[in-house]
Amino acid sequence: MKPTSKDSSWEMDLPVFSATPKHEAYDVVIIGGATMGACTAWFLASNPDFKGKVLVVEPDPTFSKAQTGASNNCMRQQFANPINVKIGQYAAEFVRNFRENLGGDPNVPELSIRNFGYLYLSDNADLTKVLQRDQSVQEECGAGTRMVAPQEIADAYPF
Ligand SMILES: Cc1cc2nc3c(=O)[nH]c(=O)nc-3n(C[C@H](O)[C@H](O)[C@H](O)COP(=O)(O)OP(=O)(O)OC[C@H]3O[C@@H](n4cnc5c(N)ncnc54)[C@H](O)[C@@H]3O)c2cc1C
Repeated sequence: MKPTSKDSSWEMDLPVFSATPKHEAYDVVIIGGATMGACTAWFLASNPDFKGKVLVVEPDPTFSKAQTGASNNCMRQQFANPINVKIGQYAAEFVRNFRENLGGDPNVPELSIRNFGYLYLSDNADLTKVLQRDQSVQEECGAGTRMVAPQEIADAYPF
C-alpha cells in the first residue's frame, strides 16, 4: 500500500508499506505507525545494540485520522522538567538535519523549520512564579527562553 494524496510532491517511492509481514516472527511489534510508532521503530532498528526484528502495524498509511497529521508540528522547549526540555532540543536538532539523520537517503525529504517563539502569558503572581521557575530550568538546559515584562511585550508587539 502506498499513501495517496492530491498533492504528490511529498510522496516517496519507498517500498516501506506492505500488506503482509515479511517475516513469520518479530521481536518487537509496534501498533500504530504515526509519529510515536515510526520513531520508536526507527530508533530501535537503528540502534546497533538491537539485533531483533521490528514490525510496525498501521492500518492507515495515509494517517488520515492520526493526531500526527493534525498536529501543528511545533517543537517547543518551554517545559518544567529538564528531560522534556532536552527532548525538545533533541527533536529540533534531529528535524533540522532530518535527511542526514535518517542516513542521507535522497528519497527522504529535507524538512524546513520556521523559528518563532511561544509566548506564555501570566495574569497573576502565582503563575508568574511557576513560569519563572520553569524558565530557570529551561535556561540551565541551554534553551533561549526568557522572561519579558508587560511593557517589553507592548513595545515589541504594538498591534
Ligand atoms: C490539533 C492538534 C495539534 C497538535 N499540535 C502539536 C504540536 O504543535 N506539537 C506537538 O508536539 N504535539 C502536537 N499535538 C500532539 C501530537 O500531534 C500527538 O501527541 C502525536 O501526534 C501523537 O502521536 P501518536 O503516534 O502517539 O498517535 P497518532 O498520531 O494518533 O497515531 C496513532 C496511529 O495508530 C494507528 N492505530 C490506531 N489504532 C490502531 C490499531 N488498533 N492497530 C494498529 N494501528 C492503530 C492509527 O491509524 C494512527 O496512525 C497536536 C495534536 C493535535 C490533535
